[in-house]
Parts: sequence; structure tokens; C-alpha cells
Amino acid sequence: MATQRILDFLATRRPSGPCLVVDLDVVRDNFRAFEKALPDSKIYYAVKANPAPEILRLLAAMGSSFDTASVAEVEMAMDAGALADRISFGNTIKKERDIARAYQLGIRLFAVDCVEEVEKIARAAPGARVFCRVLTDGEGAEWPLSRKFGCVPAMAVDVLRHAKGLGLDAYGVSFHVGSQQTDLTAWDRALADAKVVFATLAEEGIVLKMVNMGGGFPTRYLRDVPAAQAYGQAIFSALRKHFGNALPETIIEPGRGMVGNAGVIKSEVVLISKKAANDNVRWVFLDIGKFGGLAETMDEAIRYPIVTAHDGTETAPCVLAGPTCDSADVMYEKTPYPLPLSLTIGDEVLIEGTGAYTTTYSAVAFNGFEPLRSYVI
Ligand SMILES: *Cc1c(COP(=O)(O)O)cnc(C)c1O
Repeated sequence: MATQRILDFLATRRPSGPCLVVDLDVVRDNFRAFEKALPDSKIYYAVKANPAPEILRLLAAMGSSFDTASVAEVEMAMDAGALADRISFGNTIKKERDIARAYQLGIRLFAVDCVEEVEKIARAAPGARVFCRVLTDGEGAEWPLSRKFGCVPAMAVDVLRHAKGLGLDAYGVSFHVGSQQTDLTAWDRALADAKVVFATLAEEGIVLKMVNMGGGFPTRYLRDVPAAQAYGQAIFSALRKHFGNALPETIIEPGRGMVGNAGVIKSEVVLISKKAANDNVRWVFLDIGKFGGLAETMDEAIRYPIVTAHDGTETAPCVLAGPTCDSADVMYEKTPYPLPLSLTIGDEVLIEGTGAYTTTYSAVAFNGFEPLRSYVI
């Protein structure tokens, strides 16, 4: 949603070109809502969702921890004021020298999903805590994370046992139920798997302590999504169901749910045209597309709300495309997007819910277009 502060900023500053405007008040509210929904879980903000220094500084000051995927992200979190003991290196795919660098910076919490990665960590970060990521099916997520990360629970047992054998602290299990996850029961299935790993290792005397329940918390796009409180309740009852009174330490890693609804992209209509005189679908070209930051429109996965000055008037289906000379730069075509018939070239539109996964996905200079500018207010 465009907050009044964002609308005022756009009206007074009139930035030219496409840009993202993020309202920190919304990020602050989101952080508090997560704290309230899951009071016993530590919040590790997933830096990749939006690493703007202002956002990282605000969250660091509010007591957030940070989930990072590279040495550069570790450094960003530290520059924002986070101490090393509040940062996890959560990427399961790391160069050994990057593990060593992170260890040198004080990082002691690392993700793994195979014995090969455990061996790197044992060499480059001796004695560190490791948690093993288990696969999830991604059912119910609009941006599933497929089979790239994690292993089956039986293998997680081997991985953590191996870690322990190499002198690492076999600390816990992690999972990610898929991004923009609107099925509240997704955590229940993943926690059942986590419990199996805990129980199997406990029989061998290896006592795990932590479950990292990942991200997946949604942003409202065109459809309503459950509130943070509903996620908190569903997750807490799943924890109770599987772990009884022996609740482990828990972590959540919201990315999209922390910043998605805090940002709005202002864009301009560059061209409206048809491919034949009798076509009833118009092509609407914006000055931002897949390469300008809207990469999550890939396969039309994420459908952003688009606000125009003509809303409430008659609409017709449009193909929505970006301005670059790549034919892949079409955002919505399989399911055309209804836009007002009175929309004209030069009109500004607001693309809502774009605070997460936009600036960082923007190309550097494809076709000479500058990367997506961002203002954090
Ligand atoms: C991207 C990512 C997140 C954030 O996911 P959201 O769905 O945006 O909340 C959390 N944890 C890990 C390990 C990630 O890679």
C-alpha cells in the first residue's frame, strides 16, 4: 500500500524515472508484529529481500538479527550495527574462503545441507555451530524454492552426525517452506521432519537445540493474506504438537513479510499499442520490467497491485511489458492485466508491495537503463 508518507514524498520530490520508495514506519510495524506473533522466536531478517542501509540500521536498532548469504551481506549487517553473534551465514552454498572470512569477522552460525559443506566449515570455521537444512515440498507457496536447498531428513541426520564428529557444534535443523507461503499448515509438515531429525540424533546422544523455521511470510498483493498473528498461532501449535514440552530454540527469517508491503514503485507508461487494428488486448509498456527490478513476475508468479489515477473507471485486459529490447521482458501475458481504458501514454502508475526482491534484482545497465533507484523514508 502507498502510505501517505510515500504519496507525499512522490508529490513533493517528483523523482524522475522509475523508483522504489520504502516507508520505514511500515518496516517498524512489521518487525513489531513478528515479535508479537512469535514472542519466543528470534528474528533473523533475510538481508537479500532488501539490504538498504536504512532498513538494516532500523532493524539492528530494534534488536533484529540477520540472515546473510555472502560475506558482503555479513559486512552490510555489521555496518548497520549488528554484532557478529546476531548474524547467521544461512546460504548452504559457500566458498571455503568466504566461510573463513566470515569466521574471522566473528560469525559462528552456518547453514549446511550436505557433508561436503560440513567439511569446508570444519576446516574454515572450527567449532562453529551448524544447522542442517531439510527439503520442503514448497506446496502452497507462490514462489517455491524447489529442490535447490536442503536434503531429506534421513540425510540431515548423517550430516549433523558428521559435523559433530569433526568437532563442530551440531546445533539444529532449518527449513524454508517457500516464499509467499499462504498455507498456514506448511510449517506443521516441516516441523514434523525437524522433529524426526531431533529424535533420531537424540538416541545417539546428540542433542540438537534449535529449529530455524525460515521465511515464507507473505505480503499482500492482489489477494488478502493471513496476518502475522495467524502464522504465529499455527506455528506455535505445530511446535507444541511435535516437540511437546521440550520446545527447541526457534528462529524465523522473514524477508518478504518484513519489507514487501513497505515499498511502492513509481513507474510511467511509455507506450500503449496493439498488434493489429482489431486486437482487443492492448500492450502497455512501462519504464520498468523484469530487468528493472520486477524479476518476480517470472512465470507470472508474483502479481503486483497496480494503481492508476483512473481507477474505478472501465477496464480492459492488457499485456504488461517492460521497456527493454529483450522479448522475455513481458510481465503479464498468459493472464492479462485489467487496466483502465482511459490510461494514456505518460501516465504514472504505482506498483504496490514492491519493497522486497526488487532493487537487488535490478540489472546494472541493460540497454543503458540505470538500476532501480530507491528512496528509504
Ligand atoms: C530468502 C530466504 C529467506 C527469506 O524468505 P522470505 O520468503 O522472503 O521470507 C529466509 N531464509 C533463507 C535461508 C532465505 O534464503
